[in-house]
Amino acid sequence: MKKILIIYTGGTIGMQHDKAGALKPFDFGKVSEQVPELNRLGCKLAHHAFEELIDSSNVTPDFWVKLAKTIEKNYAKYDGFVILHGTDTMAYSASALSFMLENLSKPVIFTGSQLPLGAIRTDAKRNLITSVEIAAGKVIIPEVCIYFNNQLFRGNRAEKFTSSMFDAFQSLNCPPLATVGVNVEFDFDLLSKPSTKKLIVHTTLEPHIGLVRLFPGITEAWMEHILSVPDLKALVMETYGSGNAPTDPKFIRALAAAIKNGLIVINVSQCSGGSVEQGKYETSKLLKEIGVISGADLTTEAALTKLMVLLGQYPNDSKKVKKMMIMPICGEMKLI
Ligand code: ASP
Repeated sequence: MKKILIIYTGGTIGMQHDKAGALKPFDFGKVSEQVPELNRLGCKLAHHAFEELIDSSNVTPDFWVKLAKTIEKNYAKYDGFVILHGTDTMAYSASALSFMLENLSKPVIFTGSQLPLGAIRTDAKRNLITSVEIAAGKVIIPEVCIYFNNQLFRGNRAEKFTSSMFDAFQSLNCPPLATVGVNVEFDFDLLSKPSTKKLIVHTTLEPHIGLVRLFPGITEAWMEHILSVPDLKALVMETYGSGNAPTDPKFIRALAAAIKNGLIVINVSQCSGGSVEQGKYETSKLLKEIGVISGADLTTEAALTKLMVLLGQYPNDSKKVKKMMIMPICGEMKLI
């Protein structure tokens, strides 16, 4: 019988209304007592609730370290892990964990819900039950995934795209690893192979990473302000379409000077689907020339967390970090 550890961190799934009517996370005890169907899945369940249950808007890199260490501590004892997490930053957490847990041979599945477990039309039950069923299933998924509304996504490819519908996540650059209807249909060509190496957990993360979204009319002062943040090591720049940005010399000059001073700048698109192709348009040629790195089809969440983990691992080797930023490590981007 497979053993699955359910880790409860907070999020809507376990929220209740406080006196003022706002939703707040609370400790609902053992989830398998709330959802007795879990006990009929033919696996052994154990629970671990974080001491401080949070709305995922309060997630920090320290939270990811705590989560990764919890998995590390229990890795030998369990066959799979299901993490109950708020949806707001689930794609960031799943991306971060995918880079922090090297050599995975067991499933780590994030799930949550749009309505609390206690709500009549809740989506929590089916998300949770199917996540556990997949984690305990015969097909081993040695990846960090997000399971939501009948689809199993690669965690570092997914993004939350709606706050009001049950299908909260999408992954336009990578098809789902599995689709759930009457049967669970896996995409076997996509699934990674379980690693035969020992699990390595990276727990040093570089927090000095920035994010800027370009917009028509972005000023030189705005750009310079961002580029002068103390200790900034890397910047994720969300550009237009296939990686395009203004050609205004002031904008380019500010960016070029920062890159010359050692800043790593990654170009990701504001579009949810498609890839950055620096040089395709005149408006991205200059970026390439000044040393902006193409993030290809990385999501913003994956680009940010990959930088945090790589810079934590190689703090004095920006050449290596830049090289690894354009290579897939765990399925987060296409090979370019
Ligand atoms: N604010 C909640 C959270 O991310 C939303 C959710 O769980 O869906 O924790």
